[in-house]
Amino acid sequence: MMILPKPDCDLCPRLSEFRACNKRSFPNEFNALVPPFGAEDAKLLIVGLAPGLRGANFTGRPFTGDYAGDLLYATLLKFGLARGEYQERADDGLELVQTRITNAVRCVPPENKPTPEEINTCRSFLESEIKNLKNLKVIVCLGLISHNAVLKTLRAKPSEHKFTHGAHHKIGNLHVVDSYHCSRYNTNTGRLTAQMFEGVFQSVLPLLSTKD
Ligand code: URA
Repeated sequence: MMILPKPDCDLCPRLSEFRACNKRSFPNEFNALVPPFGAEDAKLLIVGLAPGLRGANFTGRPFTGDYAGDLLYATLLKFGLARGEYQERADDGLELVQTRITNAVRCVPPENKPTPEEINTCRSFLESEIKNLKNLKVIVCLGLISHNAVLKTLRAKPSEHKFTHGAHHKIGNLHVVDSYHCSRYNTNTGRLTAQMFEGVFQSVLPLLSTKD
């Protein structure tokens, strides 16, 4: 059974304090642990870092309203991994196709930086999620923190699976595919272009239809 954290999860004192403080400042926004988006029969799991303060933390859906969501959802729509129209709100009717999106850390961290302890604590939920996605074939890791969290979850050695943009790793029955995070910083500095990001998803598509 999937272990679901409570929306007001208090396992990380710093994160629950930050959440309480945000609730006071922005009482009309979501301000809770952001649950995954997409069905449990997904073949593809995309793992981000953590909700952005005024994005997913406000809307309650991963990457929704975050700058990073513009490129992510445009790419998923382009490759048929989503349908509908992305309108930066959780009730825009957008649907994911064979895909689910979650974060290594489910609560918004101060300055967008979760501590190693917070990443470790939240990993129990990622672990439960990966175990329970029965049709899962591919995990796309957005950034190094996501890559490391996924490797630890799968008990794989970082020395054997180095993070590089576009890298494919076979770990047990799963394909783990790395991408630079689609953050504003990475796209503004040119570290990640839309073409590079699309290349990652293009390489994932054939893996979703194979039998192994
Ligand atoms: N929003 C998310 O939900 N996750 C990220 O990694 C970035 C923005």
